Amino acid sequence: MSTQTLQREPSAFSLKDFLSSFLLVELFKGLRITGKYFFARKITVQFPEEKTPLSPRFRGLHALRRYPNGEERCIACKLCEAVCPALAITIESDQRTDGTRRTTRYDIDLTKCIFCGFCEESCPVDSIVETHILEYHGEKRGDLYYTKDMLLAVGDRYEAEIAERKAADAKYR
Ligand code: SF4
Ligand code: SF4
Repeated sequence: MSTQTLQREPSAFSLKDFLSSFLLVELFKGLRITGKYFFARKITVQFPEEKTPLSPRFRGLHALRRYPNGEERCIACKLCEAVCPALAITIESDQRTDGTRRTTRYDIDLTKCIFCGFCEESCPVDSIVETHILEYHGEKRGDLYYTKDMLLAVGDRYEAEIAERKAADAKYR
C-alpha cells in the first residue's frame, strides 16, 4: 500500500460552524419554533366531544332508504351486489302479489366492505347509501353483519340527514 493512500486529508476548520455550535444556535432555533406554537391558537380536536366537519360524500355506515310513504326504495335489481368489489352484499328477492319485486334478504358484511361507495353510485333509486355515521363497532363475531332490517332501521333513523347530504351534493353531479 502506498504511503500516499494512508495520508488523511486534514479536516477543514470552519469558524462559522464552531461559533454556531458554541453559541447553541440550533437549540435556539428550535426553541423559537416551540415558543411560536406555545402561544398560537390550539387546534387539537377533543374527540368525541368535538368533531371535524364531514363532506356530504363521506362514506360511513350503510343504510337502506324508504320513500316518504314508507315503501322501500330498493327494487332488487342487484346492481349493488354485482358491482361490489368485496362481495360484501348478499341479496335474495321475490315478486309480490302486486307484481313488484322486492328483496327478501339484503345483507352487508361490513367486515368485508372497503367503503368504496360503488353500491351507492350504482343504485338507480337512491336506496342503498352510505351515511356519515362513523362511530359504530362490533364486540363479537357477526355484530358487523348488517341485515335488511338493521339497514332499514339506520335509514329510518337518519333519513333527514341523508336527504340533506344528498341535496347538498346534487349540484356537483
Ligand atoms: S361500499 Fe363498496 S365494498 Fe362496501 S358494500 Fe358498497 S360496493 Fe361493497
Ligand atoms: S339497493 Fe339499489 S342497486 Fe341494490 S338491489 Fe336495491 S335498487 Fe338495486
